[in-house]
Amino acid sequence: MSQPAYKRILLKLSGEALMGDDAYGINRDVVAGIVRDVIDVTQIGVEVGVVIGGGNIFRGMAGAATGMDRATADYMGMLATVMNAMALADAFRAAGVNARVQSALRIDQVVEPYIRGKAIRYLEEGRVVVFGAGTGNPFFTTDTAAALRGAEIGADIVLKATKVDGIYTADPKKDPSATRFQRISFDEAIARNLAVMDATAFALCRDQRLPINVFSLFKAGALKRVVMGEDEGTLVYC
Ligand code: UDP
Repeated sequence: MSQPAYKRILLKLSGEALMGDDAYGINRDVVAGIVRDVIDVTQIGVEVGVVIGGGNIFRGMAGAATGMDRATADYMGMLATVMNAMALADAFRAAGVNARVQSALRIDQVVEPYIRGKAIRYLEEGRVVVFGAGTGNPFFTTDTAAALRGAEIGADIVLKATKVDGIYTADPKKDPSATRFQRISFDEAIARNLAVMDATAFALCRDQRLPINVFSLFKAGALKRVVMGEDEGTLVYC
């Protein structure tokens, strides 16, 4: 059997990925699908860290957040990511996979704090580690948390799961002639002004020579194909 192309991955799931077609919240079927996809790759020996967003919960709070102090709203957003992390870890446990949540904000009664060495140990033991609360700092995003945790745990790649199966020359919904990049360098992505991740996250990955693959969460088997190094999504490389 061929070996996976990446031994340790950092999977970034946006909060919206958990919603499916719902207006907000967490869709159980979608979460079950994510859990299955991740188990598929852990079974071939891939170590998986997950950074989860909070958009699905925060969306229901948009009214309250309007006009709110930015840092306060951001801390609320980070707490939303912890809820998602707990839901995801619970779904892993229900499927028989030992998953741990580590939070960048201290809420010790609820989940354990982020401790790098411990996270790496869990990964080596084959557990899935779900990183909550982003970077723990306002004015950042969970994309940046994915780049940061990816670099810290020595991931081989950051996998950004989205609704679209990669990076296109133009918005494929607006321009039917748009084509997908199979691979693109960091420099070319910058030159073409492609929004792969937010600028901070992108710069961190580029500086750390940490490749990114943008792929569709809703395409069956896509995660495994990415991990096997097959042509899936778009690879952003140094
Ligand atoms: N957030 C933050 N610092 C971080 C990560 C997240 O302040 O390091 C806050 C921020 O308000 C953000 C929210 O948490 O809008 C949810 O994260 P994000 O928007 O990245 O989630 P996604 O859009 O991926 O669901």
